[in-house]
Amino acid sequence: MAPAGRKKVLHKIADLIEAEALALTVLGVRDNGTEINMALKAEAGSAAGTFRYYAEALDKVYGEIAPTAPNVLGLIHRDPVGVVGAIVPWNFPLMIGAWKLAPALAAGNSVVLKPAETASLSLLRLADICAEAGLPDGVLNVVTGPGHITGEALALSMDVDVLVFTGSGATGRRLLEYSARSNLKRVYLELGGKSPNVVFADAPDLDLAAKTSAMGIFRNSGQVCVAGSRLLVEASVHDDFVARVAHHAAALQVGDPLDLNSHIGAVNSETQLAGNLGFVSDAVAEGATLALGGNRILQDTGGTYMEPTIVTGVAPHHRLAQQEVFGPVLAVTPFTTDAEAITIANSTDYGLSAGVWTASLPRAHKMIRAIRAGIVHVNTYGGSDNTVPLGGVKQSGNGHDKSLHAMDKYLDLKTAWIQL
Ligand code: ADP
Repeated sequence: MAPAGRKKVLHKIADLIEAEALALTVLGVRDNGTEINMALKAEAGSAAGTFRYYAEALDKVYGEIAPTAPNVLGLIHRDPVGVVGAIVPWNFPLMIGAWKLAPALAAGNSVVLKPAETASLSLLRLADICAEAGLPDGVLNVVTGPGHITGEALALSMDVDVLVFTGSGATGRRLLEYSARSNLKRVYLELGGKSPNVVFADAPDLDLAAKTSAMGIFRNSGQVCVAGSRLLVEASVHDDFVARVAHHAAALQVGDPLDLNSHIGAVNSETQLAGNLGFVSDAVAEGATLALGGNRILQDTGGTYMEPTIVTGVAPHHRLAQQEVFGPVLAVTPFTTDAEAITIANSTDYGLSAGVWTASLPRAHKMIRAIRAGIVHVNTYGGSDNTVPLGGVKQSGNGHDKSLHAMDKYLDLKTAWIQL
C-alpha cells in the first residue's frame, strides 16, 4: 500500500480507538485489574496517540544515495521486513500492543500479534477496529493462547522474519533459543527491570520526590516494567524521606479497579500475588525491615489486592534488591556518597529505567552518564511520550519501542549497486 494509504488507515484506527476509548479501557481493566484512572490514559489514550505518531512518521522515512564513485549509483532502500511476530504481556496490552503494531504497520509489514493469556480482550477488539479502519485482511492477525503453545509456535515459525517481545527475562531467553532453532529471525526484547530511584538530600522538593516515588512503584500495583522498585536514599535524609513515602503510600486507596475512587487496582492473578508476598517474607528473613504494608487486602468482593509495601534496610545483595517482583513492593537502601549510589544503582543484571533527584545540575548529568539504563528521569519519575525511545540495556533487553528509532526494527536495509 502506498504511504498515503497506510497513513489514512493508521489515522482511522486512532479515530476509532478514541471513539470507543472508555469501552476498550473497561474491557482491558476487566482482564488485568489496572486501576481505571490510570488505564484510561495509559491504554486507549496512549494507543491512539501511538497510531497517530507513526501515521505521521511513515512518509518521512527516506532511502539514501551513497557517496560512491561517479560511474556507480549506490542506493540504500529501506524495505519492510515482511512478517512481524509480536508477543505482548498483560500489564498494558493496548499500549504495548500499539508500540509494536503501529510502527510495524507504518513500515509496511504484516503482523501476527499474540496477547497474554490473561489479557487478550482489548487486543482482539483492536483487531476488529483495524479491519473497520480499512486494514486489508491478513495484514494483522491476533492469535490467542498460552505462551508455551501459541507463543512458542509463533517464535519457532519459519515464516516470521522479526520477533518483538515485551515480558519476562525467562521468556526472552526462550525466544532467542526458538530463533536459533528455526530461521534466525531477529529478536527484540523489552524485559524487566529493578530500577533504582536515587534521592539526594539536595532534592529540590523532598515531599514531591516522595509522592512521585510512591506512584513510581505503586501505580498498577507495581506491575510496570519501568517501576522504580529500588529507592536509594542519601543517609542524612533517609528516615525523613521514608516516612514521607510511607505517608503518601498509606493514603492510596486500593480496591475495585473499575471504581474511579480507587488509586490502585488489583494484582493480576493469585500466582502473582503469592509471588509478591514471598518476596516480602524472604526480605524479612534476610534481615530487612517491613516498614509498611506487606499483606494481602481482603475485600468482600474477593479479588487479588495487595497493600503498598515498603521494605527498608535492603542490602544490595538481597533477593529483593536483585530480582524483579512486578508487584507493589519498594526496597529501600541508604547510601552516603555519589560513588556508592552509582555502585548500588548499577549492581543488578537489569538496566531499564532510573530516577535521580537533586538540585545540582552537574550531579544530575554525572548520574545520567554513570547509571546504566535505557532512561534516566531527573526530578521526576516515569514520564515519557512517543517522541523518545524506550528500551533496556544489560538483561533488560535490546532494541527500542517508541520514537522514530522504533521504525528501524521493522525495516531492512537493501543496497542497489548500479553500474552507470
Ligand atoms: P509476564 O511476567 O509479563 O507474564 P511472560 O514472559 O510470562 O511475562 O509473558 C509475556 C508474554 O509472553 C505473554 O504473552 C506470554 O503468553 C508469552 N509467553 C510466555 N511463555 C512463552 C513461551 N515459552 N514462548 C512464547 N511466548 C511465551
